[in-house]
Formats: sequence, structure tokens, C-alpha cells
Amino acid sequence: MNIILAQPRGFCAGVVRAIDTVEQALEQFGAPVYVRHEIVHNRHVVQTLRDQGAVFVDELERVPVGALTIFSAHGVAREVERQALERQLQVVDATCPLVTKVHNHARQYAAKGYQLILIGEPGHPEVIGILGQVDAPITLIQTVEQVRALDFPADTLLAYLTQTTLSVDDTRTVVKTLTQRYPNIVGPDARDICYAVQNRQQAVRELCAQVDVLLVVGNANSANATTLCKQANDSGTPSYLVSDGSEVDTRWFTPEMSVGISAGASTPEVSVQDVIAALARFAPLHIQTLPGREEHVQFRLPPGLIARQ
Ligand code: SF4
Repeated sequence: MNIILAQPRGFCAGVVRAIDTVEQALEQFGAPVYVRHEIVHNRHVVQTLRDQGAVFVDELERVPVGALTIFSAHGVAREVERQALERQLQVVDATCPLVTKVHNHARQYAAKGYQLILIGEPGHPEVIGILGQVDAPITLIQTVEQVRALDFPADTLLAYLTQTTLSVDDTRTVVKTLTQRYPNIVGPDARDICYAVQNRQQAVRELCAQVDVLLVVGNANSANATTLCKQANDSGTPSYLVSDGSEVDTRWFTPEMSVGISAGASTPEVSVQDVIAALARFAPLHIQTLPGREEHVQFRLPPGLIARQ
């Protein structure tokens, strides 16, 4: 079986920083360290950190007053920041700087009197955080149909924002429809979709031209991993989301096929290797890696933590 690995795939700079944040907090302050929400959307990563002493909570009420608490890479609403202050928590904020950028855009537009539209996935923690970062109401949309259903008067001062992990292609279509309906609307086009998400989508686009089937390694609650899978399926390449080798179903392939493998931005390489090992039990493999864009983005650890030497 011919295996072609996407390049780049897996961890992005925001995920590396978020995991380093928890590990460094454990090293510098000792266990337990509380983490609000899964630090990144990957079960393997969460379990590994749990084994080291991280305690994951959905709500801050479960954190003892004054305890060290890390906010996840997805960012939080202001209400959560207020609760943390009330409980006198020692907060280390691992919100990805690219998500913080969207928070800043939201506040800047709101301060200038724009009514805000957010293109994003309802219920996703990043979206909940963005919606909660400004006091003004934000209209959440995801589809072209929802753009058509908007009823703002034509002269409304409008701005839009985007979740960082969306499909570039789908977002461009939604933005195009928005600008056709509201020609004066302002916003970032697809520029606030993060570099890592764009690079992984581009790699999958190139990979799909060469393979019969694509496996995306990642968890179902990872927006960027599910987007890669959908993108491949939309382009006509059957694609399956698997979190590790145990979820690979050999009925998806024959030994003569070319199989592409990519991984979401929160997926560790160990899970990719586990998928390859599962395929190797099915057929002899010839493995190659797609030439792709090199990534050199690095983010500094949040204030309060000392970087490893
Ligand atoms: Fe940050 Fe992009 Fe990674 Fe999300 S996918 S954590 S926005 S670098």
C-alpha cells in the first residue's frame, strides 16, 4: 500500500505553546494544576497531561479558591475572566495569540460602533469565547443560507469576524455572499483563519489529487481536523477521521490503493504513527511524505512561566 503523509500535519504553534504551558506550570508550581476545558481538543494529549497531574474542569466552580488555573488555547469569555478574579485564581492564559487577535478585532469593531457578525461553529469553545469578549450582541452565522436570512437594514454599520479554524473555501463563499448583500461590510476576508489551518488545508488539497482515500488523524471535537475531512470528502476523495490506529477500518481500502494521511493541529505525531502501524498490519507499506510548506512559527509562553532552556 502506498502511503503519502501530508506536510505540514499535526501540531501547530498554538497547540505546542498550550501543552508547554501546562507542562511548565506542573514543573514550576507542582501538581495539581487546574485547566479549564480540554487544553486542546485531543484525548491523547489530555490524558498524558492528566497523568502528569493536570486536572481538567469545565467550570471554574470546581477549582479551589486561589488555585493555579490555565485557560485553554480556545480562549474564554470575559465572564470566565471575572469568575477567575472572584475566586482569586492564579490564572495562566494559554489562549492562542491568534485567537486573542480575533478578540482584539471584536473589541475594536465594537468600540467603533459596528454591529458584529461572527462566522463560526455554534457551541465551539473558541466561538463561545469570542461571543463573550464584547458586551454588544454578536450575530453568529455559519452558512450562505444564514447570510441570506440576515435582516440588518442596508445602511447598518457592519463588521464580520471569523473563527480561526474554519475551511478557507467555505469561509470565502460565506464572505462573498455577505459582501454582495452588504457591500460596505468590513472584515478580514479569510486572513484570520490561522496559518496552520490554511497550510494543513492546502496540503490536503494537494494530497487529495494523488490518493484514493484520506485518513485524517484527530478527534471529532477538533474543528480543524473535521474540516480537513470534510474538505477531502467535498473534493471527491473519501476521507475518514480516526483518533488512532484502533479506529482504522480495513474495509475502507485495498492493498493496491494510495492512502493519504493528515492530522489536525491538535494531533500528536504518536497518533499518526499508531495509524501507520495499524495499516502496516493490513499490507506492506511504501511511505513517502508530500513536499510542503515548512512552518517556523513559535509563540512565547504566557507571562508567569519560564521557558525551558
Ligand atoms: Fe492557534 Fe491556529 Fe493552532 Fe488554533 S490552530 S491553536 S489558532 S495556531
